[in-house]
Amino acid sequence: MKALHEAGVAELSRALQTRQVSSAELTRQLLARATAHESLGAFLAIEPERSLAQAEAADRRLAQGGAHRLTGVPVAHKDIFVTRGWPSTAGSRMLAGYASPFDATVVARLGDAGMVTLGKLNCDEFAMGSANENSAFGPARNPWDPRRVPGGSSGGSAAAVAARLVPAATGTDTGGSIRQPAAFCGVTGIKPTYGLCSRYGMIAFASSLDQAGVLARSAEDCALLLSAMSGFDARDATSAERPPQDYHAQMLAPREGAGGAAPLRGLRIGLPREFFPARLSADVERAVRAALRELEALGATLVDVSLPRTELSIPVYYIIAPAEASSNLSRYDGVKFGHRAQRYDDLTSMYERTRAEGFGPEVKRRIMIGTYVLSHGYYDAYYLQAQKLRRMIADDFQACFAHCDLIAGPVAPTAAWPLGAQADDPVQAYLADIFTLPASLAGLPGMSVPAGFTGSPEGGGLPVGLQLIGNYFDEGRLLHAAHALQQATDWHRRAPPGP
Ligand code: GLN
Repeated sequence: MKALHEAGVAELSRALQTRQVSSAELTRQLLARATAHESLGAFLAIEPERSLAQAEAADRRLAQGGAHRLTGVPVAHKDIFVTRGWPSTAGSRMLAGYASPFDATVVARLGDAGMVTLGKLNCDEFAMGSANENSAFGPARNPWDPRRVPGGSSGGSAAAVAARLVPAATGTDTGGSIRQPAAFCGVTGIKPTYGLCSRYGMIAFASSLDQAGVLARSAEDCALLLSAMSGFDARDATSAERPPQDYHAQMLAPREGAGGAAPLRGLRIGLPREFFPARLSADVERAVRAALRELEALGATLVDVSLPRTELSIPVYYIIAPAEASSNLSRYDGVKFGHRAQRYDDLTSMYERTRAEGFGPEVKRRIMIGTYVLSHGYYDAYYLQAQKLRRMIADDFQACFAHCDLIAGPVAPTAAWPLGAQADDPVQAYLADIFTLPASLAGLPGMSVPAGFTGSPEGGGLPVGLQLIGNYFDEGRLLHAAHALQQATDWHRRAPPGP
């Protein structure tokens, strides 16, 4: 077998089940690697003894036989998932030192499947951002070029998977935070349909948009984790009540009437004309078009469709998400959770100082925007209008799905930008969310699949992601198409330079 860190989830699962490798040995090697790559800033917490104890328990289960296929495979969690025994900070000073008394459902389900928690991963504060530069604990870096951002808000997740520090990581996506960092770091990411994975124990940003998902090296690895972590949870009021699914089996099942060299025969892929505007970076467009040609060669048909309100998704999202955030973040008052100012005069000054000290600038900006759009006199003009447009954006997708099965386009208008490039201009970063926000507002599942590189096709450039969007609960079809593409191409197998 090749070096253990090179192997993905499926491969490690086979090696563990056949006892070619022990989870303890695998975990030890990956922990050493994570420490050696500390300068990437991907991890916020590593606790070797805790991970190794889990790995040894996994080895005992494997020795008994009949263990779950994920038993012993390491995973790391975005620090937005509360995790008992580990720090759970959401990238915020507000929650530094906070100890959760329970595990998020996603963490618990992957733990029940026998996965070993390797650590907690860096992210933008309360998942607000597109570059991981809003983390109170410092940025994460892009393994393809450490002077560039890994994307955000699940930047630590994408960087850790890309640098081969861990085979898979959890992430959350409110407006693109799984898909965009996956694209920037050249890994595969899936944001499921809203409600598919429980939000219980996911530190809330914008509750009507937040959704948990996976970042891994391949669609197959994403399917394995998604099957274990998704499904109804009575503790999340917006959890979808559907029977458990085996996405791995769905991913492998041949399409009716397709097969052989044309596994995607009959699949109609819609290309929204608004996803290919003139200002799209030429490198990104070239890579995305090349991936689309591969899908065509696999039997898919490309059809033109339109999502006419794509541009409006930016103001709509940047009203609704801050509105919900301002309400969700009101719980951080120095009384119920986290940080409390040391010095204050009275109750009001305790609130004020606690929140001034605990929150970073982007979070404060969003609380102010959100409070404003919800205030009497502005609610109708902003929040209500945004809600109406959100419905129309979702309807536009349904009009498209009358003509196609999946929708494709770029994940982001450019590849990863240099650290600091957008630090003083939040609106610039908001505008770069244009292709991920529509599916988030509609609650649809979306994937980012590696689709080549900027610069010369021989490599040396930065990764580019192809976005695939499916209809509600069509994760099986999305993963099937992404898997077929990955069987025919090797973009997802490329690793960043360095040891
Ligand atoms: N970049 C978007 C934002 O800053 C999306 C973040 C996310 O999906 N969590 O809100």
